[in-house]
Amino acid sequence: MFRWTADRCRRFATRAFVAGAALVLAGAAAAASLEAVRVGAHPDRTRLVLDTSISLAPEITRPAPTTLILEVAAAPRGDLAPAGEGLVERLAVTATARGSRLEVRLTEPARLKGAFALAPGDGRWHRYVVDLEPDPATDAAREAAPTPRSSPPDRPLRARVSAPAETSPRRRPALATAVPRRRPPPAPPVVVVDPGHGGRDPGAIGPSGLQEKAVTLAVARRLAARLRAAGDVEVVLTRDDDTGLALAERLAIAAVNEADLFVSLHADSLPRHPDVRGASVYTLSAEASDPEAARKARKENAADARLDVIATAPDETVRTILTSLMRTSTGRRSTTLAQGVAGDLSTVTPLLPRPHRSANFVVLRSLQTPSVLVELGYLSNPADEAALAEAAHRDALAAAIFRAVTAYLNRG
Ligand SMILES: [Zn+2]
Repeated sequence: MFRWTADRCRRFATRAFVAGAALVLAGAAAAASLEAVRVGAHPDRTRLVLDTSISLAPEITRPAPTTLILEVAAAPRGDLAPAGEGLVERLAVTATARGSRLEVRLTEPARLKGAFALAPGDGRWHRYVVDLEPDPATDAAREAAPTPRSSPPDRPLRARVSAPAETSPRRRPALATAVPRRRPPPAPPVVVVDPGHGGRDPGAIGPSGLQEKAVTLAVARRLAARLRAAGDVEVVLTRDDDTGLALAERLAIAAVNEADLFVSLHADSLPRHPDVRGASVYTLSAEASDPEAARKARKENAADARLDVIATAPDETVRTILTSLMRTSTGRRSTTLAQGVAGDLSTVTPLLPRPHRSANFVVLRSLQTPSVLVELGYLSNPADEAALAEAAHRDALAAAIFRAVTAYLNRG
């Protein structure tokens, strides 16, 4: 069922996995059921909700601009075919060997505005929400040319996400449908920068009130600006404002963008040990490299709970898969990148002893994208907190990560 490709060629990738979590969960889903599919039209979006017996993320593909296929490892319970509403013209659910396949026919090309899991609220079922919005590119094209351009109906489209402009507030990266080109130019590498936490989840908070979510966003923006200025790199920020994002959503943004690199930024706090300071860099592993790495993973993985999201399986379910993942080129590349980032950070900030560590971080569970999580320092340490509040230090951290990322990309 799982194919561990040694070397991914994203040029030909047409499938957008909404979350690496969907894959690692698939094996555990044999007994899961899809209880209902709901469609709701809202002024700015059309919302599709899947009710499932356990927490699952579907795999989403776009075979055509007006078609969306969702495959979920849960068997359909009865006849589930809600009427179309909003952007959804019609929707068909069929049982498959893996579970259910939903074919969604859209009234017009649309893009994915968001996708996230929700824990059962008052009801019994876990929910997976997919929000669609009209594609502004299509609207613009329609205004420019009264006759809409038709594209070959069965041609697979690459899912692309355009980087949100630094100046467009409250805009999340979305899944856009690109017009297929006969001979596309070589695509620049895609770097996804993930500022940890946001919204209702401030992350760690220092004694003087500095919040992790503000530090991570500030450094992420600086890193993105440097990468964009250097050129020949496509940069996507998972968030560019104070929005809370589920860990699965962060993974999904990397997946739909076919990211070549994923860098998640964080800062830690150890209030009982205010003397501990320094940055460190983490890669994924089933077993933590040390107790401090394990503690960090538990803490960072708890971010979903602060957003009322359940998107992860118990660690036992994924242990074998994670062990396999570490042996792939993705795992090796993550390690190379982490060592580079730690090396460059050492020139601008103190580091923990053995600065490259590993643990079971949910946000690093990408099957295809080399991924690292950077802890920029300890907000509980007065020196680190003061430094992390300084624009100059944030610049220096971003510059160090920028050097490591470009060195990694230039390795070829
Ligand atoms: Zn964090």
